[in-house]
Amino acid sequence: MNISPICAFQDNYIWLLSNNKHAVVVDPGQAAPIEQVLAERGLILTDILITHHHYDHTGGVQALLKNWPHAKVYAPADEPLPSSNAVALNDGDTLNLSELNLTFNVMKVPGHTLGHIAFYAANDNDSVSHPLLFCGDTLFSGGCGRLFEGTPQQMYDSLQRLKALPDATQVYCTHEYTQSNLAFGYAVEPSNNALKKHIQSVAKCRQQGIPTLPSSIGLEKAINVFLRSDLANVKASIQAHAGAPLTESTQVFAALRRWKDDF
Ligand SMILES: [Zn+2]
Repeated sequence: MNISPICAFQDNYIWLLSNNKHAVVVDPGQAAPIEQVLAERGLILTDILITHHHYDHTGGVQALLKNWPHAKVYAPADEPLPSSNAVALNDGDTLNLSELNLTFNVMKVPGHTLGHIAFYAANDNDSVSHPLLFCGDTLFSGGCGRLFEGTPQQMYDSLQRLKALPDATQVYCTHEYTQSNLAFGYAVEPSNNALKKHIQSVAKCRQQGIPTLPSSIGLEKAINVFLRSDLANVKASIQAHAGAPLTESTQVFAALRRWKDDF
């Protein structure tokens, strides 16, 4: 199985999963760039996966369905569905993509939006060597999504769930925000050597126009301050910036998210 990014809008990635015949897309904000790749590679679109209701993740669904009326759409149960025939998914559901021989587990990860879901495939799937995670706008490399609808507590809990996945899990986020996220992370945790090193390798990637994704859970645990806010030195830095003592994990996380919003 092949997984490739399709660039959309300014900095979105639509992920295309395919074998030599069939394709699945995740969060198609636009249809045209997908149609181009499908035509170039002679692929049949079988399934459309949606992580949350924002337009830059769903805007291409109707146009794709016009060309591919048999494609199945899967979307979060707790949000407006992007098409009338979409299958509504809840936490704990499994999704079997038979053409790709791939099974996803659905994880509800509210925070960015209230019904946001992520798709996780364990590596007991024959077609993948590493576990896969498609996490929409919940976890970014070096960062996390803005809290448009949910509370800091919800986002903190969602990120804790993702952090508990195996280190080898390949993380497919939907925006190229890595460089600015890491610059923020460095302001929070300037003593983090893994972060410093990663800033350099990401800069090289971007100079060459190469995506910085997928990341991995192991890497994110080392370089993403939003997964590190419980560490004493990170917490101290956030407290110093907030200018107030923060006791609960969620308070610390909320202050970190506010810091990033103003950065
Ligand atoms: Zn979004």
